[in-house]
This record gives sequence, structure tokens and C-alpha cells, in this order.
Amino acid sequence: MDLDILTPSSVAEAAALRAEHGEDAKVIAGGTALVLMLRNRLIAPRYLISLNTVEDSLRDIRYEPGSGLRIGALVPIARAERHPVVRERYPALAETYHKVANIRVRWAATVGGNCTEADYASDPPAVLIALGARVRAQGPRTAREIPLEEFFQDFYATALAPDEILTEVLVPEPPPDLRAHYLKFVTRSSEDRPCVGVAVAARRDAGGRFTDLRVVVGAVAGTPQRVPEAEALARGERPSPTLFQAIGDAYARAIDPIDDIRGSAWYRQRMIRVLVPRALAAVTDEVIKLQGA
Ligand SMILES: Cc1cc2nc3c(=O)[nH]c(=O)nc-3n(C[C@H](O)[C@H](O)[C@H](O)COP(=O)(O)OP(=O)(O)OC[C@H]3O[C@@H](n4cnc5c(N)ncnc54)[C@H](O)[C@@H]3O)c2cc1C
Repeated sequence: MDLDILTPSSVAEAAALRAEHGEDAKVIAGGTALVLMLRNRLIAPRYLISLNTVEDSLRDIRYEPGSGLRIGALVPIARAERHPVVRERYPALAETYHKVANIRVRWAATVGGNCTEADYASDPPAVLIALGARVRAQGPRTAREIPLEEFFQDFYATALAPDEILTEVLVPEPPPDLRAHYLKFVTRSSEDRPCVGVAVAARRDAGGRFTDLRVVVGAVAGTPQRVPEAEALARGERPSPTLFQAIGDAYARAIDPIDDIRGSAWYRQRMIRVLVPRALAAVTDEVIKLQGA
């Protein structure tokens, strides 16, 4: 069957084309995931809606003190990783983008495509959720914002409506005391997707006690996993190996991991117990000897 490439000049036009063609059309951004799916005949759309002809500001990275960072959906991952504002104000995010695949993929793949692909084994979603990020989605007539925590719904499934285009990733201004870290654990090549990824964002008061903690574990289930009752164990506490291990154990108990080529469910469960405490240690100043580390 023929494959026609449609070249809208605005996001609204791209969204209208999605609405018109429904399941017969696929949006293409960097094409790194989509072209593989086409080649492997996993999808056979009649039309590709290219975002590359859209004139709207999908390639901008903007930062406003107070409101935070806006990364256009078409920004290549490699550009986000190197951008001075991202590196200075959101170092954990810059580091995470740097850990995606290899440099060739990162110059082609886009920040928006990485979210909309919703592959369970992607790196940025966990850290974006830990940082409280949202995405902006635009339909033919209206636009809305969706917290990333609600955006990922299942394996390769998102909250994006069939006529919407993801236009921006919005990351709030980090409070001055926020420290974040992403720990990527791979089991095959260093360029591979994660077997387990752990993102941590923590705030502590002047006495060193946790006032807020978010721990997001990626690549172990259909969507990035948070366990609020385990995060709550930290509130009012000072960092310690006992606390970190209790949080790691609680995550391992609560998550029912998947089996895939990067690790069995059994292995992933044990690695969650090891990696959550390590990621927690990375956001605290204390030198902590972790059990089994
Ligand atoms: C060899 C290889 C290694 C990789 N390793 C990693 C890794 O280690 N970590 C990691 O996180 N990722 C990894 N990836 C995934 C890579 O990050 C994704 O392929 C990429 O982010 C998808 O971006 P894209 O712009 O190429 O999207 P595309 O391939 O163009 O599109 C992907 C999907 O999103 C849809 N889409 C894209 N943009 C939009 C939009 N703005 N609005 C609505 N729908 C949209 C498309 O219709 C399609 O369904 C790897 C990919 C490859 C090929």
C-alpha cells in the first residue's frame, strides 16, 4: 500500500489531519522509533503527518524564572542535554538526556517523541515525573496541559487524544533546596535502554531532614512507578542507610516487575532493592555505606 507524507504548516493543521485520518495516519517527529515500526511491519499507516514542516515554535527551549522550563516537542534530545539552562538549572534532566541511547540517536530523536512513544523502557519519563513535569497537548481547536504522571497510561499508551499533538514539555522551576538524580542500570550494552531506572527528587530542611521526596522507578512496568507510602517514610527523617533500605524494600514489595530480554521479574525486584537506596544516597551529602553496595 502507498504511504503518503502530509506536510502541515501549523500544529492546528497537524491536529486536524490526525482528526481527519484517525488510525490511517501516524505523526512522525524524529522517526527513530516510527521508522523501526514501519520497517518491521508493526504498523502500516496510509499517511505520515510530518511535524518537521510545522512553523510553530516546536524547536524552542525557553526558561522563565519562577515559571520554569519549556522544551518544544521537536527539540532533539542531544540539544536539550547540552542547553546551558537545562545544564545549570536542571542538571539531573540534562544528565538523563545524555544517558539516552547514543549520540546519533539523540540528535535525531525528539524530546516530544520520547514521551509520546511511551516505551516502558525509556529514561527521561522517570526523571520528568520526579521533577513534576507536564506536557502541553494541542488539538485542532483547543490546548491543554497534562501532568506527566497522568500522561503515561500503559505500555505504549498515553492520555493524548487521537486528534492531539504534543507541543511542549514543561518542567517547573526547581525549589532552591531540590536535589535530583537519575540512576540508569543497564544489563547489555552501555547504549541500551534501561533494565531499571531510578529517579529521585528530594528536598531537605536546614537540619537535613527530608521535607519532600519523590522516587520514580522506570522500565519495570508499563508506566513509571511511584509508591507514595514508601516516599512518606522519609518525611521528617534524616538520611540513613536504614531509612534508604526501608524505602528500597517498600518499592520492591509494591512493584510487580515485568520479565523481558533485559532482566527477569525476579532479577528486577532484587535490583530495585539495591538501586533505590543508591539513588537516594546520590541526592544526599552524607557518605553512606549501603548494604550490599
Ligand atoms: C537504537 C535506539 C536506542 C534507544 N535507546 C534509548 C534509551 O536508552 N533510552 C530512551 O529513553 N530511549 C531510547 N530510544 C528511544 C528513543 O529515545 C525514541 O525512539 C525517541 O525518543 C522517539 O523520538 P522520535 O522523535 O524519533 O519519535 P518518532 O519515532 O518520530 O515517533 C515516536 C512515536 O511518537 C509519536 N509522536 C512523536 N512526536 C509526537 C508529537 N509531538 N505529538 C504526537 N505524537 C508524536 C509518533 O506518532 C510515534 O508513535 C532508543 C531508540 C533507538 C532507535
